[in-house]
Amino acid sequence: MSERDTYRTIPLTDQRQAGFALPRPAQLLVAHGELTDTLRRPLRDLRISVTDRCNFRCNYCMPKEVFDQNYAYLPHASLLSFEEITRLARQFIELGVQKVRLTGGEPLLRKNLERLIEQLAKLRTLQGKPLDITLTTNGSLLARKAQSLKDAGLQRVTVSLDGLDDAVFRRMNDVDFPVTDVLHGIEVARAVGLGQRDGQPTGGLKVNMVVKRGSNDQEILRMARHFKGSGIVLRFIEYMDVGATNAWRMDEVLPSAEVVRRIHAELPLVPLEPCAPGETAQRWGYAGAHGEHDTTAGEIGVISSVTQAFCAQCNRARLSTEGKLYLCLFAENGYDLKPLLRGNASDKEIEDVIGQIWQGRGDRYSELRGSLPPDRGGGARRVEMSYIGG
Ligand code: SAM
Ligand code: SF4
Ligand code: SF4
Repeated sequence: MSERDTYRTIPLTDQRQAGFALPRPAQLLVAHGELTDTLRRPLRDLRISVTDRCNFRCNYCMPKEVFDQNYAYLPHASLLSFEEITRLARQFIELGVQKVRLTGGEPLLRKNLERLIEQLAKLRTLQGKPLDITLTTNGSLLARKAQSLKDAGLQRVTVSLDGLDDAVFRRMNDVDFPVTDVLHGIEVARAVGLGQRDGQPTGGLKVNMVVKRGSNDQEILRMARHFKGSGIVLRFIEYMDVGATNAWRMDEVLPSAEVVRRIHAELPLVPLEPCAPGETAQRWGYAGAHGEHDTTAGEIGVISSVTQAFCAQCNRARLSTEGKLYLCLFAENGYDLKPLLRGNASDKEIEDVIGQIWQGRGDRYSELRGSLPPDRGGGARRVEMSYIGG
């Protein structure tokens, strides 16, 4: 038994089975797109998990000891079809959603994902603009898929990459996957024009690094040096207590302030304004000779969900692979929309149900983290990130 196994938490219940009752459809009292929750947060961002499977076993997300050959992944029949996902996306747009992120599990494992992107790319927001569609991937299949994803209408992509040192990277993904293949995937994504407009970077090609103190924090500076001036936005994510299986410990979180301090000591940084309302990353630009933002050197972002909660701006809903709506990354229960989709509910009824669920939302886990009693804060009943989508 490895040292890790001795403190690994294994959930006693399958939290995917738990769920809230759906509210009865009733007429919404607000105009479309102006819907807010109990904390006056609008609905703008929808994350859609297209598979609960993954070819990596990052120990902060799908630890090998739990996600082994006996793990019960969702059966194919319970997954939402692309048509069902697109129908739901349309209803979410009616309520104000402007951006969709496809995630998982590893979204590129879902067969023919390009077909879903083609369908989503035809949708228009309430403002008449194309839906902003992006994808988060571990990059393992990106070199093979980047061109067809781009052709299908994908414009942006975020690649997760937890280090440049091959040994560190293989240890983080825990399936011995080489870092060069992911770096090649990123290069191909750039070569086909993802994250670019008229040949210029739009900030739509991003790399996310989860920082786990004592595991990969020695890679921070190397990553910053590597991506500086590349047109790729590097973002550092605090290791979070998501799910119930990763045996999270506060002492393994490296606060974002420390990430910024380490980079700033070698590569001076200047603070930047947020790009969009509800943006979760704090932006920092590389400083030029006179302390101004050197736009050619680019920027980094830090996502401090543990040390600096951003719940007050959280405008995200999450749709699980089998059609459950979750209102927070740390939720224990979701609302099963599939019976509505597979029953005879009209589009308007589905939209009203989703609207009422959002209007009742009061989730703000990260703000409350420190003050929750141990049986609520401990997370034994939380759904996994690979199930509801990161
Ligand atoms: N498989 C894809 C990937 O890795 O990019 C998409 C799904 S993954 C769940 C989405 C994001 O969640 C990734 O950037 C991953 O690094 C992040 N993530 C997973 N577990 C996390 C944790 N415990 N703390 C912080 N970020 C986490
Ligand atoms: Fe897979 Fe992404 Fe989770 Fe890593 S973070 S195990 S790549 S779903
Ligand atoms: Fe949003 Fe929940 Fe994260 Fe707060 S804890 S930012 S409500 S997902």
